[in-house]
Amino acid sequence: MFVPPDSIALDFDGVICNGLAEYFQTAWKTYQQYWTNPIQRPDTAIRDGFYTLRPVIETGWEMPVLVHALLTDIPHETILTDWVAVRDRIVADDAIQPPSLAYALDQLRDRWIADDLDGWLALHEFYPGTIAQLKAWNAAGIDWWIVTTKEGRFVRRLLGDQGIEIELGDRLFGKEVGRPKYQTLRQLRHARPIHHRLRRIWFLEDRLKTLQAVDREPDLGDIELFFADWGYSTPRERAESAMATSRIRPISIHQFCGDLTGWLTAPSNA
Ligand SMILES: [Mg+2]
Repeated sequence: MFVPPDSIALDFDGVICNGLAEYFQTAWKTYQQYWTNPIQRPDTAIRDGFYTLRPVIETGWEMPVLVHALLTDIPHETILTDWVAVRDRIVADDAIQPPSLAYALDQLRDRWIADDLDGWLALHEFYPGTIAQLKAWNAAGIDWWIVTTKEGRFVRRLLGDQGIEIELGDRLFGKEVGRPKYQTLRQLRHARPIHHRLRRIWFLEDRLKTLQAVDREPDLGDIELFFADWGYSTPRERAESAMATSRIRPISIHQFCGDLTGWLTAPSNA
């Protein structure tokens, strides 16, 4: 029998909102500024490749390195299967200091936000149907929150512009909370009032490693884990999420936008 969740915890980037354009523009500008002799080609030449390959990246400073890899025509397949080796070779060959590259990227983004917040926010696009679904859940009294590594104030603003009001620290937990998502999930479960005898939480996320980290916490074993297959992931991660032995269930955006009962069935690509 289907038992609906009491709460749904949602990642933001790669689940509700597509931020790839922001990642790319920030990476491209940082590359142009940081590299001694940046390769001069139009950004459109590599943009789609960046969108496809962005999931290989673990931390932000690698994004301009990916830009360089694409501009030097390293095959997509090599980047996909062997990113760490590709990255390390570029770092060595071009004498890159990752901490200073990370600093340059953060500075560039911070300056952009300070100078042109609206232009920066405009690079974020909601996946079709996600806003309507959040509004439908609000209307139906279904409890949901956002757990994201993005700064909460930006998520609040982006959702607010779509007519969805959500408060920091109430239903929105961003980068500022400074702890891994499994900690936030644990804290929320204990801190929030228990309205039901059995408090069922569903957690939807597009980063497989984050879901696997929750899976490793014994006291969080009753949280249902869902992998958003439309987000930022590699084909290997999507295949891994679909393995029958996994507690993690992949769902499509079609399922996300439909009835919650549909989340528990096999993914449909309709
Ligand atoms: Mg994400």
